[in-house]
Amino acid sequence: MKKEIHPQYFKDAVIECACGAKFIAGSTVERMTVELCSRCHPFYTGQQKIVDTARRVEKFEAKTKKKQTNVLDYKAKVAKKIERAKRKADKRAKAEEAATIRTDTKKHAVKKVSAAKKTVTKKTKSVTKATKSKKA
Ligand SMILES: [Zn+2]
Repeated sequence: MKKEIHPQYFKDAVIECACGAKFIAGSTVERMTVELCSRCHPFYTGQQKIVDTARRVEKFEAKTKKKQTNVLDYKAKVAKKIERAKRKADKRAKAEEAATIRTDTKKHAVKKVSAAKKTVTKKTKSVTKATKSKKA
């Protein structure tokens, strides 16, 4: 070995796991902390266990909850929209009905007016005829 180019070697470096297990091994780093080891990893323990160091499960659950609430909100919105459309359609139908009634009454009124005009013109004609006959 060349002198002064190799890092310091620790024969009994301590590797500490998050589960509490400690291992002693040779390393250039004196002390290490790890998240998983052979004593707690599901592959070695044979028990299924969710190792959630990055809060992935929590985040996923929060996301799905949010999505569900969004879906509920969406359903409520759609229901509101449908109700609004129904109300609008009802209003439109009522307005059309009222408009047809109005036009009907207008037609009647027009007819009445034209009839009245006819009678007036007849009367004036008869009056003019009478005046003409008087003059003659
Ligand atoms: Zn461990």
